[in-house]
Amino acid sequence: MATDYDAPRKTEEEQSEDSIEELKARRHEKNSGKVDEDEVEAAESFELPGADLSHEELAVQVVPKQLDEFTCSSCFLVHHRSQLAEEKGTQLICRDCAY
Ligand SMILES: [Zn+2]
Repeated sequence: MATDYDAPRKTEEEQSEDSIEELKARRHEKNSGKVDEDEVEAAESFELPGADLSHEELAVQVVPKQLDEFTCSSCFLVHHRSQLAEEKGTQLICRDCAY
């Protein structure tokens, strides 16, 4: 009879242990996955808006002339080459100033 009692107990313990460990493993996977996603999302949302905007503004101010841009000799604004209306030597006139 003793073995009869022992046998089911062991299997119950083993089953419960297995299920607990499975739950632990699942929880761990879920938690670690959630934390990773949150961290990635937080990092992205933190970096993208502020840093990128300031970088773009800085880039425009520090590097006024791009290869396809010119500085108007009249209004001294940087325009795209498509806005170039007149070119007199080194003087470049944008369409706004040409008319
Ligand atoms: Zn101009």
